[in-house]
Amino acid sequence: MSRPASDLIALLDVLKRTLRVAPAPGEPMPMILWENIGYLVDDARRRRLFDAFDAAVGLTPEAIAAASDGVLLPLARDGGMRPEIRVERWRTIARIVLDRCDGDLEAALRSLPPPKARALLKMFPMIGDPGADKVLLFAGIAVRPCLESNGVRALARLGFFGEQASYDRSYKAAVAVLEATGRTDRAWLVDAHERLRALGKTTCKRGAPICAACPLDATCAHAAAGSL
Ligand code: SF4
Repeated sequence: MSRPASDLIALLDVLKRTLRVAPAPGEPMPMILWENIGYLVDDARRRRLFDAFDAAVGLTPEAIAAASDGVLLPLARDGGMRPEIRVERWRTIARIVLDRCDGDLEAALRSLPPPKARALLKMFPMIGDPGADKVLLFAGIAVRPCLESNGVRALARLGFFGEQASYDRSYKAAVAVLEATGRTDRAWLVDAHERLRALGKTTCKRGAPICAACPLDATCAHAAAGSL
C-alpha cells in the first residue's frame, strides 16, 4: 500500500534542512536557455556555461538573434557535442520570442490561458510537457505541481506510489501525490520540485541509490524493504 501524500510535507521539511539546492533561473526565457545551454552537463557546468553566455551575448532575444557565429560557436563548443545544433537552437529560441511573442515571452505567456501557454512553450527546443509545466510554475503563471525524472524516481522509492508500466504513468502518479498533499502555494511546489530533483541526483540515483547517505533513509519504503 502506498504511503499517505501528507507524509511528503514532513519529508520535504527534512530535505529543506539537509539538502542544498543550487540556484537556477526562474523567468521563462532564461529557463529555456538554461535547458539548451549544454549537452548532458551537470549543474555546476551548466551554471558556468549559462553565465558565460550571459556575459558574452546577453539573455534577450534581440541580442541572441544579432550574435554572430563567431560569438555563438565558441560558447556552444564549451557545452559539449553538437555545437552547431546548439547554436541553431539558441537562434530558434530567439526567433520564436521575437516573431510570436513580440520580444517578451513572459508577457505572452501571461496573456494566454494555461493550455495555450503550455503549447507555446512546447514550441521551444528541449521543452516537453514537464518542462513547460516547470516554466509556468516557476514564473508563477500557472501554479500546478510538476516534477522532473529524478523527483519521480525518488517519490516512487519513498513509497508514495507503486511501480507503473511507463514513465508517463509514473509521472502522472507522482504529480498526483503532490496534488494530494493539498499544497497549492507556488513557493512550496517550486521547493518540492527542486528538493526532490536534488535528492534523485545526490543519493536516490537512477542506477543504485546510496541510502546510507540519504537524509530520508530512516523513513524510506525502498530502504526498509532492503531492495537495494
Ligand atoms: S533512502 Fe535510498 S531509496 Fe530511499 S529516498 Fe533515500 S536514496 Fe532513495
